[in-house]
Amino acid sequence: MEQLKRKIAEDGTVLSDEVLKVDSFLNHQIDPELMLAVGEEFASLFQSEGITKIVTIESSGIAPAVMAGLKLGVPVIFARKRQSLTLTENLLTASVYSFTKKTESTIAISASHLSKDDKVLVIDDFLANGQAAKGLVSIIEQAGAKLSGIGIVIEKSFQSGRKELDELGIRVESLARIASLAGGKVTFLEEVRS
Ligand code: 5GP
Repeated sequence: MEQLKRKIAEDGTVLSDEVLKVDSFLNHQIDPELMLAVGEEFASLFQSEGITKIVTIESSGIAPAVMAGLKLGVPVIFARKRQSLTLTENLLTASVYSFTKKTESTIAISASHLSKDDKVLVIDDFLANGQAAKGLVSIIEQAGAKLSGIGIVIEKSFQSGRKELDELGIRVESLARIASLAGGKVTFLEEVRS
């Protein structure tokens, strides 16, 4: 998605060979126009799948997921990372190791929002080693729902997540694929191939 790649190139900051900071449009301040375009792109990629629910993880997955939900006309559920006084009933949980925080945490979704009749699209902001995505997939399996695919805003293709999800036979659609952050420079996958 050219608009997204332009934004990453112009406004992203490479913090290390592994970490990209996009706090000015995705992870802290949010660019609503760009998020709408991202949501439209996910909706068009998955529109023939009969999606009934979108599942994401707080907090940075919520903006792109809500826009995709708006365009597909389906509800969006976000997995919580922290315990909530109101989230008490029948929880589906998974343990996730956070790439950015370097800590293990339990993510949770109430079983009341997912059923075996649901066809689920997972959306997240980044794909690194695939821990967050796999945790969400586990929760969807526990609910007996069907996973239709995963939509990622920014994939770091040099880390293991994409390969691991491909090996599980999961459809993954990433709107920007980064081949390398080496030397403080963002190189997209297409530039490496062409
Ligand atoms: P994974 O679970 O695939 O290893 O990592 C994905 C999660 O870690 C995403 O939900 C995202 O919040 C965070 N993450 C991974 N890599 C980056 C990165 O380079 N920059 C930012 N801002 N977040 C990242």
